[in-house]
Amino acid sequence: MLGKLELIVGPMRSNKTAELLRRIETRRQYAKQYVMLLKPSDDTKAAAGLVESRNQNGCGRMEAIEFRSADPWSVLPVLAATEQQIGKHIECVAIDEGQFVQDLFLFTKRLLESGYDVMVSGLELDFRGMPFGEMIDISWLVRTYSGNITELVSYCSCGAKAIYPQRLVDGKPASYESPIIMAGDFYEPRCAEHFVLPGRPH
Ligand SMILES: [Zn+2]
Repeated sequence: MLGKLELIVGPMRSNKTAELLRRIETRRQYAKQYVMLLKPSDDTKAAAGLVESRNQNGCGRMEAIEFRSADPWSVLPVLAATEQQIGKHIECVAIDEGQFVQDLFLFTKRLLESGYDVMVSGLELDFRGMPFGEMIDISWLVRTYSGNITELVSYCSCGAKAIYPQRLVDGKPASYESPIIMAGDFYEPRCAEHFVLPGRPH
């Protein structure tokens, strides 16, 4: 049987991670499902990590299995070993920060075809306002397999709905030329009018 895909998208501070953790908790508590939470990391070591939500309400943190964002396939043997250990098919795989995962489209498709429900949360746009990783691609999987997309909302300081992740470096808008993934960067959600991107070509 094919799995279903639940996609949770929205800009930063829209409580994507909190929503993901809430859904995991619900499946575990009420449906008695085994849900494996995955966290992409640029670390080379795969280890137990934590996924934390910035939202103070609700479940704030949960243990996760870290994997190298360049190689989600390394998770497959972990899934198999866990199933061996618990003696059943894992019902659901949840992925936080999906925008960082290489091969996200193929990896998610593979999980769905192997009968896992998949939940993915992440950013659809990067600081340039361009598609981030394969997050937008996987909405095709929702339409083609089954599942749903939840668009969470956050607000610009002017009160309008925020669409863009504004990257700030030392309190100033980062230029178009800065790298897509930067250590220790800071973002705030902004509306189209207040989104600033120095050096943008278009
Ligand atoms: Zn605004």
